[in-house]
Amino acid sequence: MTTQTEKLTSEFDLIARHFTRPAANAVLGVGDDAALIDVSNGMDLAVSTDTMVSGTHFFPDVDPENLGHKSLAVNLSDMAAMGAMPYWATLALTLPSVDHDWLAAFAKGFFDLAEEFNVSLIGGDTTRGPLAMTVTIMGEVPAGAALRRGGAKAGHDIWVSGSVGDAALAVAHRHGKVVLAEADYREAVMRLYEPTPRVALGQALRGLATSAIDISDGLLADIHHICRLSNVGAKVELPLIPVSAIGRKHIGLKEGLTAIVAGGDDYELCFTAASNSRESIAELAEILGVPLTRIGTVSRGKGVSLVDAGGKAVALDGYGFDHFAAS
Ligand code: ADP
Ligand code: MG
Repeated sequence: MTTQTEKLTSEFDLIARHFTRPAANAVLGVGDDAALIDVSNGMDLAVSTDTMVSGTHFFPDVDPENLGHKSLAVNLSDMAAMGAMPYWATLALTLPSVDHDWLAAFAKGFFDLAEEFNVSLIGGDTTRGPLAMTVTIMGEVPAGAALRRGGAKAGHDIWVSGSVGDAALAVAHRHGKVVLAEADYREAVMRLYEPTPRVALGQALRGLATSAIDISDGLLADIHHICRLSNVGAKVELPLIPVSAIGRKHIGLKEGLTAIVAGGDDYELCFTAASNSRESIAELAEILGVPLTRIGTVSRGKGVSLVDAGGKAVALDGYGFDHFAAS
């Protein structure tokens, strides 16, 4: 019979074995009742949490290393979207059982990315139940300088980093809505599982972008979030939207188009900027080696419209214009 003490001992062992690493950025890391962090003078503390639940946010058969990566990546992306420098994370893990191979792979994915971005895991919680993970990330941004969703003004340009659609195309493929060639699926699914958080870009956009968001819900839906908080509308030009070679093969079909403009999980940054910032943004793209593409314009009014080369509204299956109009 497992006693309560034995159960707790294995939980401590699990934490010690997989999730205790030196917390370089913190005054105190894993092990006590709370971690301690020292926030620099003149900085705001940026805090964000994201939960991923098996079957809802990821396919149950996902490689645990990819999952470890993604659970942190989506949180780093929120720091990027605020223009914040990430430093600290906590991890609340709910596990159906203790599988040390699974945990080692998950921890590898998590810590490889944490090291890349100099983020310390400073605490968390470990419980038994259906597989889910919640990461809280904290970072710093100079007081008052965070990129918010509410600063877009009519006439500003709308920009997006990288390319959009591959992650959602992989999901659509899994759901049988589009058919990707095998090699294309393998490439697209890595953008789903291992998105690249645009942390350096977010910080470089401070003082340049008038609003920003990371693309998690879908390009048009996320632009709509900006519109709601900025009290503006937006016109997005379909031919300008940057898509990968895989995306180009599928954008001509309705299901493909829907995945690209309305599917999420890209974790690219979408931001607005005044039109006299175009040169600075092009320079930034050059310096960071990240494509930055102007895809539309902020307008007066409400709602997001998607238009073709001739300026005509583009109809989307189940995602009509109205879907994104302000309610
Ligand atoms: P408490 O009973 O005070 O909540 P716990 O037993 O839950 O403490 O956790 C012990 C220590 O291990 C704490 O410092 C906590 O932050 C840390 N911890 C627990 N689970 C994790 C995890 N999955 N990842 C990182 N740290 C964890
Ligand atoms: Mg606890």
